[in-house]
Amino acid sequence: MSGTHLAVAEIQSMLDAGFSEVVQNHAQLTELDSISGDGDHGIAMLRAGESVRALLREPAKNIASVLVAVSGLLLSSDGGASSALLGSFFLGMADACAGKNELDWAEMSSAFHAGLQKLRCYTEAKAGDKTMLDALEPAVAVLVSSHTCNLTIEAVMALAARAARNGALQTKEMPARFGRAQHLGNRTIGWQDPGATTIALLFRGFEKGL
Ligand code: ADP
Ligand code: MG
Repeated sequence: MSGTHLAVAEIQSMLDAGFSEVVQNHAQLTELDSISGDGDHGIAMLRAGESVRALLREPAKNIASVLVAVSGLLLSSDGGASSALLGSFFLGMADACAGKNELDWAEMSSAFHAGLQKLRCYTEAKAGDKTMLDALEPAVAVLVSSHTCNLTIEAVMALAARAARNGALQTKEMPARFGRAQHLGNRTIGWQDPGATTIALLFRGFEKGL
Protein backbone atom coordinates (compact mmCIF):
# COMPACT_ATOMS: atom_id res chain seq x y z
CA MET A 1 0.00 0.00 0.00
CA SER A 2 0.99 3.62 -0.53
CA GLY A 3 1.30 4.59 3.13
CA THR A 4 -1.13 7.50 2.63
CA HIS A 5 -4.45 5.92 1.59
CA LEU A 6 -6.32 2.71 2.30
CA ALA A 7 -8.62 1.16 -0.31
CA VAL A 8 -11.22 -1.52 0.36
CA ALA A 9 -8.77 -4.44 -0.12
CA GLU A 10 -6.40 -2.92 2.43
CA ILE A 11 -9.21 -2.40 4.95
CA GLN A 12 -10.21 -6.06 4.42
CA SER A 13 -6.64 -7.17 4.98
CA MET A 14 -6.35 -5.04 8.13
CA LEU A 15 -9.60 -6.46 9.54
CA ASP A 16 -8.67 -10.01 8.56
CA ALA A 17 -5.33 -9.79 10.38
CA GLY A 18 -7.07 -8.28 13.43
CA PHE A 19 -9.63 -11.06 13.70
CA SER A 20 -6.96 -13.64 12.95
CA GLU A 21 -5.09 -12.57 16.11
CA VAL A 22 -8.31 -12.85 18.09
CA VAL A 23 -9.09 -16.33 16.70
CA GLN A 24 -5.54 -17.57 17.35
CA ASN A 25 -5.65 -16.37 20.95
CA HIS A 26 -9.20 -17.35 21.85
CA ALA A 27 -7.96 -19.81 24.51
CA GLN A 28 -6.32 -16.93 26.40
CA LEU A 29 -9.61 -15.01 26.22
CA THR A 30 -11.51 -18.00 27.58
CA GLU A 31 -9.02 -18.33 30.43
CA LEU A 32 -9.28 -14.64 31.35
CA ASP A 33 -13.08 -14.61 31.11
CA SER A 34 -13.26 -17.78 33.22
CA ILE A 35 -11.29 -16.11 35.98
CA SER A 36 -12.98 -12.73 35.87
CA GLY A 37 -16.29 -13.32 34.09
CA ASP A 38 -18.50 -16.18 32.97
CA GLY A 39 -16.05 -17.83 30.56
CA ASP A 40 -17.93 -17.29 27.30
CA HIS A 41 -15.80 -14.55 25.75
CA GLY A 42 -13.18 -16.74 24.06
CA ILE A 43 -15.69 -18.99 22.30
CA ALA A 44 -17.84 -16.01 21.32
CA MET A 45 -14.81 -14.28 19.78
CA LEU A 46 -13.65 -17.49 18.08
CA ARG A 47 -17.05 -17.97 16.40
CA ALA A 48 -17.47 -14.31 15.50
CA GLY A 49 -13.86 -14.03 14.31
CA GLU A 50 -14.14 -17.08 12.05
CA SER A 51 -17.34 -15.84 10.46
CA VAL A 52 -15.89 -12.36 9.99
CA ARG A 53 -12.81 -13.85 8.32
CA ALA A 54 -14.96 -15.94 5.97
CA LEU A 55 -16.94 -12.84 5.04
CA LEU A 56 -13.76 -10.87 4.36
CA ARG A 57 -12.76 -13.41 1.69
CA GLU A 58 -15.81 -12.39 -0.38
CA PRO A 59 -15.48 -9.51 -2.87
CA ALA A 60 -16.73 -6.25 -1.38
CA LYS A 61 -18.58 -3.29 -2.89
CA ASN A 62 -16.99 -0.58 -0.79
CA ILE A 63 -15.46 0.14 2.61
CA ALA A 64 -18.76 0.90 4.35
CA SER A 65 -20.37 -2.32 3.09
CA VAL A 66 -17.48 -4.39 4.51
CA LEU A 67 -17.76 -2.67 7.88
CA VAL A 68 -21.58 -2.98 7.96
CA ALA A 69 -21.29 -6.71 7.23
CA VAL A 70 -18.64 -7.20 9.96
CA SER A 71 -20.83 -5.27 12.38
CA GLY A 72 -23.89 -7.36 11.44
CA LEU A 73 -22.08 -10.61 12.16
CA LEU A 74 -20.97 -9.38 15.57
CA LEU A 75 -24.39 -7.97 16.46
CA SER A 76 -26.17 -11.18 15.49
CA SER A 77 -23.67 -13.55 17.12
CA ASP A 78 -24.77 -15.14 20.38
CA GLY A 79 -22.03 -13.85 22.64
CA GLY A 80 -22.19 -11.68 25.75
CA ALA A 81 -22.02 -7.91 25.89
CA SER A 82 -18.75 -7.67 24.01
CA SER A 83 -20.07 -8.90 20.65
CA ALA A 84 -22.79 -6.25 20.66
CA LEU A 85 -20.36 -3.53 21.73
CA LEU A 86 -17.85 -4.49 19.05
CA GLY A 87 -20.68 -4.65 16.50
CA SER A 88 -21.67 -1.10 17.38
CA PHE A 89 -18.04 -0.01 17.07
CA PHE A 90 -17.78 -1.30 13.48
CA LEU A 91 -21.19 0.17 12.65
CA GLY A 92 -19.98 3.58 13.80
CA MET A 93 -16.89 3.16 11.62
CA ALA A 94 -19.10 2.20 8.66
CA ASP A 95 -21.27 5.32 9.05
CA ALA A 96 -18.14 7.47 8.88
CA CYS A 97 -16.98 5.72 5.69
CA ALA A 98 -20.25 6.04 3.74
CA GLY A 99 -19.64 6.70 0.05
CA LYS A 100 -15.84 6.44 0.28
CA ASN A 101 -13.74 4.11 -1.86
CA GLU A 102 -10.52 4.90 -0.04
CA LEU A 103 -9.55 6.56 3.20
CA ASP A 104 -6.75 8.99 3.80
CA TRP A 105 -5.22 9.06 7.22
CA ALA A 106 -7.50 11.76 8.63
CA GLU A 107 -10.58 9.87 7.39
CA MET A 108 -9.24 6.63 8.80
CA SER A 109 -8.69 8.08 12.27
CA SER A 110 -12.11 9.81 12.13
CA ALA A 111 -13.70 6.45 11.33
CA PHE A 112 -12.07 4.83 14.38
CA HIS A 113 -13.20 7.78 16.49
CA ALA A 114 -16.78 7.48 15.15
CA GLY A 115 -16.69 3.77 16.06
CA LEU A 116 -15.71 4.60 19.63
CA GLN A 117 -18.46 7.24 19.86
CA LYS A 118 -21.06 4.72 18.65
CA LEU A 119 -19.86 2.11 21.16
CA ARG A 120 -20.10 4.70 23.94
CA CYS A 121 -23.84 5.03 23.17
CA TYR A 122 -24.32 1.50 24.51
CA THR A 123 -22.31 1.57 27.72
CA GLU A 124 -21.62 3.93 30.55
CA ALA A 125 -18.23 2.36 31.18
CA LYS A 126 -15.32 4.78 31.25
CA ALA A 127 -11.58 4.28 31.22
CA GLY A 128 -10.63 2.76 34.58
CA ASP A 129 -13.71 0.50 34.82
CA LYS A 130 -11.82 -2.60 33.58
CA THR A 131 -13.51 -3.02 30.22
CA MET A 132 -12.58 -2.98 26.55
CA LEU A 133 -12.65 0.83 26.74
CA ASP A 134 -9.39 0.77 28.72
CA ALA A 135 -7.66 -0.49 25.56
CA LEU A 136 -9.85 1.11 22.92
CA GLU A 137 -9.82 4.69 24.19
CA PRO A 138 -6.00 5.06 24.28
CA ALA A 139 -5.62 3.35 20.90
CA VAL A 140 -8.15 5.66 19.24
CA ALA A 141 -6.60 8.67 21.02
CA VAL A 142 -3.27 7.80 19.39
CA LEU A 143 -4.90 7.52 15.96
CA VAL A 144 -6.70 10.84 16.36
CA SER A 145 -3.70 12.75 17.68
CA SER A 146 -1.12 11.28 15.31
CA HIS A 147 -2.77 11.70 11.92
CA THR A 148 -1.37 15.20 11.62
CA CYS A 149 2.18 13.97 12.39
CA ASN A 150 4.52 13.14 9.59
CA LEU A 151 4.17 9.38 10.09
CA THR A 152 2.91 6.64 7.80
CA ILE A 153 -0.40 4.92 8.53
CA GLU A 154 1.56 1.78 9.42
CA ALA A 155 3.72 3.64 11.95
CA VAL A 156 0.72 5.25 13.63
CA MET A 157 -1.12 1.93 13.79
CA ALA A 158 1.93 0.44 15.50
CA LEU A 159 1.71 3.19 18.15
CA ALA A 160 -2.03 2.58 18.54
CA ALA A 161 -1.41 -1.16 18.97
CA ARG A 162 1.12 -0.41 21.69
CA ALA A 163 -1.36 1.92 23.42
CA ALA A 164 -4.05 -0.79 23.31
CA ARG A 165 -1.65 -3.38 24.74
CA ASN A 166 -0.58 -1.05 27.56
CA GLY A 167 -4.21 -0.14 28.26
CA ALA A 168 -5.13 -3.82 28.47
CA LEU A 169 -2.18 -4.51 30.80
CA GLN A 170 -3.28 -1.71 33.11
CA THR A 171 -6.67 -3.38 33.62
CA LYS A 172 -4.87 -5.93 35.81
CA GLU A 173 -4.82 -3.36 38.61
CA MET A 174 -8.56 -2.62 38.41
CA PRO A 175 -11.66 -4.24 39.94
CA ALA A 176 -14.39 -4.97 37.37
CA ARG A 177 -17.43 -2.69 37.47
CA PHE A 178 -19.23 -3.72 34.26
CA GLY A 179 -20.41 -6.88 32.55
CA ARG A 180 -20.75 -10.23 34.27
CA ALA A 181 -17.30 -9.67 35.84
CA GLN A 182 -18.73 -6.91 38.07
CA HIS A 183 -20.11 -9.59 40.42
CA LEU A 184 -16.53 -10.70 41.11
CA GLY A 185 -15.39 -7.13 41.83
CA ASN A 186 -12.04 -7.12 43.66
CA ARG A 187 -11.46 -10.78 42.85
CA THR A 188 -10.72 -9.70 39.27
CA ILE A 189 -7.71 -7.65 40.42
CA GLY A 190 -4.51 -9.22 39.11
CA TRP A 191 -6.12 -10.38 35.86
CA GLN A 192 -6.26 -8.57 32.57
CA ASP A 193 -9.79 -7.75 31.34
CA PRO A 194 -10.83 -10.16 28.56
CA GLY A 195 -12.51 -7.51 26.40
CA ALA A 196 -9.54 -5.14 26.68
CA THR A 197 -7.32 -8.08 25.70
CA THR A 198 -9.46 -8.64 22.59
CA ILE A 199 -9.02 -4.99 21.61
CA ALA A 200 -5.25 -5.27 22.06
CA LEU A 201 -5.25 -8.39 19.85
CA LEU A 202 -7.35 -6.68 17.19
CA PHE A 203 -4.99 -3.70 17.02
CA ARG A 204 -1.92 -5.95 16.99
CA GLY A 205 -3.47 -7.61 13.96
CA PHE A 206 -4.43 -4.27 12.37
CA GLU A 207 -0.76 -3.27 12.63
CA LYS A 208 0.34 -6.53 10.97
CA GLY A 209 -2.35 -6.34 8.29
CA LEU A 210 -1.46 -2.89 6.97
P1 ADP B 1 -20.33 -10.56 29.46
O1 ADP B 1 -19.75 -9.76 30.56
O2 ADP B 1 -21.71 -10.13 29.08
O3 ADP B 1 -20.20 -12.05 29.65
P2 ADP B 1 -18.45 -10.96 27.26
O4 ADP B 1 -18.05 -12.24 27.88
O5 ADP B 1 -18.99 -10.99 25.88
O6 ADP B 1 -19.47 -10.14 28.19
O7 ADP B 1 -17.22 -10.00 27.22
C1 ADP B 1 -16.57 -9.62 28.38
C2 ADP B 1 -15.90 -8.30 28.11
O8 ADP B 1 -16.84 -7.38 27.58
C3 ADP B 1 -15.39 -7.67 29.36
O9 ADP B 1 -14.09 -8.13 29.62
C4 ADP B 1 -15.46 -6.19 29.08
O10 ADP B 1 -14.28 -5.76 28.43
C5 ADP B 1 -16.58 -6.08 28.08
N1 ADP B 1 -17.83 -5.61 28.66
C6 ADP B 1 -18.82 -6.37 29.19
N2 ADP B 1 -19.85 -5.57 29.59
C7 ADP B 1 -19.48 -4.29 29.28
C8 ADP B 1 -20.08 -3.02 29.42
N3 ADP B 1 -21.30 -2.87 29.96
N4 ADP B 1 -19.41 -1.94 28.96
C9 ADP B 1 -18.19 -2.08 28.40
N5 ADP B 1 -17.58 -3.24 28.24
C10 ADP B 1 -18.19 -4.33 28.67
MG1 MG C 1 -18.55 -13.33 29.45
